[in-house]
Amino acid sequence: MEKQLIDYIKKYNIAAPRYTSYPTVPHWDTASWTTGAWISAVQSAALESAGEVSLYIHLPYCERLCTYCGCNTRITKNHRVELPYIESVISEWRLYLEKLNIKPKIVDLHLGGGTPTFFSPENLDYLIKSILQEASVGEDTTFSFEAHPANTTREHLEVLFALGFRRLSLGIQDFDSEVQRIINRKQSPDDVIRVMQEARHIGYTSINFDLIYGLPKQTLGGIRDTIQQAIAMHPDRIAFYSYAHVPWIKPGQRLYTENDLPSDEAKLAFYYAGKEMIINAGYLDIGMDHFAFPTDSLALAATEGKLHRNFMGYTDIKPSLLLGLGVSSISDAGAAYAQNVKSVEEYRALLSKGEFPLFKGHIQTASDIDVKKQILHIMCDGKLPLSEFQLPTEVLKRLEPLIADGFVLLEPHRLRVTALGRSFLRIICMAFDERYHANEVDRPLFSKAV
Ligand code: SF4
Repeated sequence: MEKQLIDYIKKYNIAAPRYTSYPTVPHWDTASWTTGAWISAVQSAALESAGEVSLYIHLPYCERLCTYCGCNTRITKNHRVELPYIESVISEWRLYLEKLNIKPKIVDLHLGGGTPTFFSPENLDYLIKSILQEASVGEDTTFSFEAHPANTTREHLEVLFALGFRRLSLGIQDFDSEVQRIINRKQSPDDVIRVMQEARHIGYTSINFDLIYGLPKQTLGGIRDTIQQAIAMHPDRIAFYSYAHVPWIKPGQRLYTENDLPSDEAKLAFYYAGKEMIINAGYLDIGMDHFAFPTDSLALAATEGKLHRNFMGYTDIKPSLLLGLGVSSISDAGAAYAQNVKSVEEYRALLSKGEFPLFKGHIQTASDIDVKKQILHIMCDGKLPLSEFQLPTEVLKRLEPLIADGFVLLEPHRLRVTALGRSFLRIICMAFDERYHANEVDRPLFSKAV
């Protein structure tokens, strides 16, 4: 890596949000949020989008804990938990159906977790059919799910395909056996190849691999081997994430020590080595951590300026009302956000009383909506049209060092992120983030920026 880049990385490698929402969750104004206000926002958003709804369904169970895990998960080998949980998710959907003044048309449905493939194919079939019973779907509705290579069966793939699923995302992280040992995650390249081949044979059209750099015991050689094996399998998309070390939030990460983690310099070397290999293999750099083959819809959306970003990261689905069902899920109605309770017991108890299982949210101010648009422009297009926004003096001041360091160019009618600046998107977005700068925090809430 060039010395100048290393210097920038040292200078800017601070805790920073990933900007899957604005304001970011720790900066929500929860005091002025109510369930009533949230439901009104949902009703307005549904009418505005002519009933179009994106659904995210969180299926939290996993059979074993991956020590690096940052998700909301419940570890159990008891599969009797599946049906009661599914019944609660269906009840939650019915509560929303009662409130919507219009029949929903699902434009996007994503199963995340946890491990959706923890659930049996029959139970997933029951869940999806129940959800779709009182909604319509279009020809272009996107169905996708997250799959664990070690427990995704052919039956899972067939049942979900029959329901309309065409995309899956395989959590791989790293193929190195020493890394897999310390992160307590076992899956061989053969597991991945099997799922890939079966999925392709059945007809799935988009397969994503999740890889992570910065995990304990990772080495540059190991990262190169993992990327080499991954690209040889020809996934349509690769998400190459930075490991977020937040042991004060995720105690599982205390099962190894800081000494097991690569240094900041090593971590960055992993990222640049991996990124170079992925791009040399023909993938397009979509933005923060995401790469897609030029024929994939995410790459097409990026080249056509139609990329969007929501709680799940980059997407080619145009924004509409996003309802998150299941424990800890976050919903976005444009003018408001809401989040579900994080414990399964509380989630089920509230639903059994016929109550929305929500515990906090945020109502957008006019200024929030403006900043959200600015951040989305930077994150998705790498450009900000200045004719559309009156940037406050403080924002311009915060942009000055970023312009001086060559991350951003100030052109007559727009701000443009440079090739160098693409590695610092989170830092650039922080310049616009009024709520981050207005709120003093006493401990890091985010992982490091680069
Ligand atoms: S399978 Fe995924 S959600 Fe489950 S523990 Fe591992 S990383 Fe976390």
